[in-house]
Amino acid sequence: MKDSTGIDSLMDITQRPDFTIVEGHGCWLVDDGGKRYLDFVQGWAVNCLGHSPEIIQEALKKQAATLINCSPAFYNEPMKKLAACLTRQTGLHKVFFTNSGAEANEGAIKLARKWGSKHRNGAYEMITAKMSFHGRTLATMSASGKPQFEPLFEPKVPGFSKVPFNDIEALRSAISEKTIAVMLEPIQGEGGVIVANDDYLRFAREITRERGILLILDEIQTGVARTGKLFAKEHYDVQPDILTLGKGIGGGVPLAALIAHRDVSCFEHGDQGGTFNGNALIAAVGLAVMEHVGQPEFLAHVEAVSTHFVRKLEELAHERKLGEVRGKGLLLALDLNGDIANDVVKVCLEKGVLLNAPNARTLRFMPALNVSVEEVDECVSVLSQVLAELLSRIS
Ligand SMILES: *Cc1c(COP(=O)(O)O)cnc(C)c1O
Repeated sequence: MKDSTGIDSLMDITQRPDFTIVEGHGCWLVDDGGKRYLDFVQGWAVNCLGHSPEIIQEALKKQAATLINCSPAFYNEPMKKLAACLTRQTGLHKVFFTNSGAEANEGAIKLARKWGSKHRNGAYEMITAKMSFHGRTLATMSASGKPQFEPLFEPKVPGFSKVPFNDIEALRSAISEKTIAVMLEPIQGEGGVIVANDDYLRFAREITRERGILLILDEIQTGVARTGKLFAKEHYDVQPDILTLGKGIGGGVPLAALIAHRDVSCFEHGDQGGTFNGNALIAAVGLAVMEHVGQPEFLAHVEAVSTHFVRKLEELAHERKLGEVRGKGLLLALDLNGDIANDVVKVCLEKGVLLNAPNARTLRFMPALNVSVEEVDECVSVLSQVLAELLSRIS
């Protein structure tokens, strides 16, 4: 049968509204009916500079006219420059580029296993956290502590044990001779914006060092200025052995990175690769993004807007008797004190504001990092109206 819209030709992997997005500028999206949406999801914390920013347009135009792709078997200029930029910014030493966060974590798992085979008598077990999210490849789903993943795609990749997040004793007692690494998110984004306690991440660093195993931080959601520092690890003053970045690093184009300390960087030729890794076009965008978000003024803006946003959300929470406001920088969550998050997201969408609900009682906010105070006020004002309507309907 002919499918004139194309909708029936797409695999139905998620519920989508029945309009089509045709344009995006800054914090705003436009659908095919001309309706505008204030976007506080931004492709899941991906478009750190908003929709179609000049900086990315320019980087794409310039690089596309010069060199798009020459295969990862050759060096290209953007690949070298972005790697040097990332080692300088992270304090780590070796970078491997991927196309998605899951692939960066998959690479981290492989690197840790290779390291275990060389330095830990072939051990391969990793400790991850309950409610964590590390991606959708088979190994990264196996590593994730998302309960919904548990029954899926059995048998999983073996070798992952899960501990409750922010529980120091559980982590201490989970480490054995068979353990090679602990992998954590500084803030569990998909898990509902659960922030690691200061002493928890520091303990994770100390115990892994003491026991001679690796600490891997998954900063795919928290990195790239999202939390008001260039990397969330800076809030904790913790340096991992392996760091993964994704989402914001490409500002909307598919780019992610696996970054390791030189002592851990033990891949040999043939162990790791991928057709598009270090692709010149995409690396040029990553370089433009990282240089921009790394500027002190940019980080100061994120901090300032965040302080304002948190205050507005706390006022709203107080007014409507909601729960806590959590998160750092512009990765924030509001606990709604009841299972109404999906309804709130639905009504906000009708009113032209895009929000996300990581679970039934939580709203997550991940706007562009260059969002204005006025746009934050508009978002909170619409949210406030929607909550008033919904809460009066319930009571
Ligand atoms: C989004 C995310 C991933 C997966 O990244 P993809 O690009 O979707 O593969 C992994 N870890 C964390 C913490 C994430 O937020």
